[in-house]
Amino acid sequence: MFDMTPKDAAKAIAYNQKQLDAGEITAEHITALTFEYQTRREDLADDGMLGPLTRNALDISYTDDGVPEGGWQSWDGPLDEQPVNRRTTYDMFGDPGKYEQDKAWARDNIMECHERLGNRLPGVPSKWWVKVHKAVEPYLREGLRRAQLSAPEYQIERLGGYVWRAIRHRRGNPLSMHSWGIAIDIDPHRNFSRKFAKGEGPEAWSPAYMAIWPDGLPEPFVRAMQSCGFAWGSDWDEDGLSHDHTYYDAMHFEWVARDGHANGV
Ligand SMILES: [Zn+2]
Repeated sequence: MFDMTPKDAAKAIAYNQKQLDAGEITAEHITALTFEYQTRREDLADDGMLGPLTRNALDISYTDDGVPEGGWQSWDGPLDEQPVNRRTTYDMFGDPGKYEQDKAWARDNIMECHERLGNRLPGVPSKWWVKVHKAVEPYLREGLRRAQLSAPEYQIERLGGYVWRAIRHRRGNPLSMHSWGIAIDIDPHRNFSRKFAKGEGPEAWSPAYMAIWPDGLPEPFVRAMQSCGFAWGSDWDEDGLSHDHTYYDAMHFEWVARDGHANGV
């Protein structure tokens, strides 16, 4: 996308459209601009013609609010691989502590995000300190940035990240993905977790679902996070369906590419 805010771009596009309609912008102008642009790009011939290759290179396939038509593309962040379960999470990120929090591990791997550190996460209230694995922070940042563009009406009130604990806070259970700082919970009071009998959970955002979570995360928010590699706690296997799960953890996202098995929250 060209490097303008969506608002500024929309203003410029409206202005230019008027000039085009009035015949003020000519083919000479377009040729000159095209040639200038092509000379700055190694992958384009400097022929001044605004053909399909040059138009594609401009990448203007964004709507005015910054959300691409047809949804977000997956985001290629700095890491080469992603864990698919708890075992591969240990392989990639190490052991955050077996019987208690390993403070040395946390010191080496966990970072904090806050207004005062100059790295507040998009949409997160300025008073909140968020602890997250430093290698996964770029994915969280981009996911939340996209969520702000896709679902600006959803105001995040609370966001929790790293905390060393067992899944569902139960001693003896395997470690939660929060123990590596690769999971977050958003607004537990609005996106609480709930169990259903097999096959009785509602489809996400259906009327039955909305009756239970009336102020919960909207679909565009969840899609934005998923596009950056986060599995959602109400669709663990990421097949786009919620009713095939029994445990809905609507507040929870984790940076794990699920292999069809919900193995922890
Ligand atoms: Zn969680």
